[in-house]
Amino acid sequence: MSGCVFCKIAAGEIPAQIVKQGNGMIAFADMNPQAPTHLLIIPTIHIGSLNDAKDPQLLGGLLGFARELAKEQKLDTRGYRVVLNTNPDGGQTVFHLHLHLLGGRPMNWPPG
Ligand code: AMP
Ligand code: ZN
Repeated sequence: MSGCVFCKIAAGEIPAQIVKQGNGMIAFADMNPQAPTHLLIIPTIHIGSLNDAKDPQLLGGLLGFARELAKEQKLDTRGYRVVLNTNPDGGQTVFHLHLHLLGGRPMNWPPG
């Protein structure tokens, strides 16, 4: 989708620190990290938010990708957090579906 920053990353039109890609998904470093490891996982096709994601296989794929990535980043034993913000009250600021993978420090609960 033209004007979508994550579509531009997926198309290689703007730079990102890509750490994993395949099966229609890409993981790259968040530009404003909130933890020692803070990666974003996106589908390469444009989907605006979780509300627009109609394909359960795609959603399951994203979660599986996050789990593999957490293992590759050696976060699996100590633990990590996967976050999916949806729409303004959920804190979503980029309207291309993405998971945050956060790790490398203990996480607080409840979230802000
Ligand atoms: P959210 O608030 O859940 O929509 O998360 C959007 C995330 O995208 C934020 O954590 C931003 O720091 C991150 N972000 C926005 N633009 C870029 C970019 N060009 N490269 C890497 N991360 C980005
Ligand atoms: Zn997009």
